[in-house]
Amino acid sequence: MSTEDLVSVFEKIPTPFYYYNLDLLRETLTRAQEAAGKYSYHIHYALKANADKRVLEQVRKAGMGADCVSGNEVERAVAAGFHPSDVFFAGVGKTDHEIRLALEKGIGCFNVESFEELQVIEQLAREAEYVAPVAIRINPRVDAHTHRHITTGTEINKFGILEEDLQPVFALLEKSSWLDFKGIHIHIGSQITEMDVFRHMCERVNTLQDLFLRQGLEISLLDLGGGFGVDYNHPEEYPVPDFEMFFETIHENLNVHPGQHVHFELGRSLVAQMGDLITRILYVKKSGPRTFLVVDAGMTDLIRPALYETEHKIENLSWRKKREEKKEIKVDVVGPVCETADTFARNLDFPYSRRGDILAIRSAGAYGQMMSSHYNLRNAASVVYSDDIRIAKP
Ligand SMILES: *Cc1c(COP(=O)(O)O)cnc(C)c1O
Repeated sequence: MSTEDLVSVFEKIPTPFYYYNLDLLRETLTRAQEAAGKYSYHIHYALKANADKRVLEQVRKAGMGADCVSGNEVERAVAAGFHPSDVFFAGVGKTDHEIRLALEKGIGCFNVESFEELQVIEQLAREAEYVAPVAIRINPRVDAHTHRHITTGTEINKFGILEEDLQPVFALLEKSSWLDFKGIHIHIGSQITEMDVFRHMCERVNTLQDLFLRQGLEISLLDLGGGFGVDYNHPEEYPVPDFEMFFETIHENLNVHPGQHVHFELGRSLVAQMGDLITRILYVKKSGPRTFLVVDAGMTDLIRPALYETEHKIENLSWRKKREEKKEIKVDVVGPVCETADTFARNLDFPYSRRGDILAIRSAGAYGQMMSSHYNLRNAASVVYSDDIRIAKP
């Protein structure tokens, strides 16, 4: 479908809304599965990136498992048709209710984040008379070289168990028949683009494996988490991340023993590029030396720029349609919410724009809709799927 046709459709839909390109999603899932399949790796999709039902349907059809961080996510995954044994449950603050729910559903694995949590899972499993499959999440002290808010694998982070704190964990795993030890889990952060970080992570996993083996704990599962990044600056040129490079890096650096399953929990890299946040310009506001494009989408729809100081590429789709003579101006693109942080871009070189123009905030398929809020009593943005758009034949 041409941009012109798509913009004509968008112009008739109330903004703001998320546009999910399911064709691109299917292609991304296929490419990821092919690249992982080469080494018999398994991908579990991290629901927290985007748990939209039609997105989940595509993920399930692609044959992936699900990685969840709340009881509601576990329920959503099972309702979407993922087999419970293909559903893993991570998170530092699992409630008793969530643990019981996951035990009853028969999930594939708890990724356990502390000794204290392991004790509670053991007790609840004993009470419910279910054996709990567990993997131990290690805090590997690997710096992901990404934004401090999405770094998880260093000492100051709340996630995982430090190597020196493992002794009581080993003891409980050995003692209890209500815990079925599967292996180790590691997730060091998100939007990681340097392959050296993943190399370093593999080296840490190799040594950690030896540590567990010396305790007589056999590892059948290596869960290396997610974190692979996407190119937010060039969504057109790189719509599908280089999964071949990612899995090859892992393959070349990770020691895998016979019979071991290697899992990944990819979120962002599978869904970020298939989503755009579509918004309209409400006002072209001149204020002293600056020009603000005040749009009808805000941080309540997409909080990433406010929270992580990230910039999403922004395009004026109406301009692309009209193909007017390009006159560049410097603009700030801001939302309507009463917060200075409600800003999508500062000092951006942008084509001359008018009230009513349709803009696309690109690469918004991951951690966009899921992190939305009702602050200022704003409505939730709706979702439009590419599969539902039919261009009428003339
Ligand atoms: C968020 C998260 C993921 C997914 O991370 P991405 O960067 O989106 O790939 C995977 N595993 C765990 C435990 C997570 O918390």
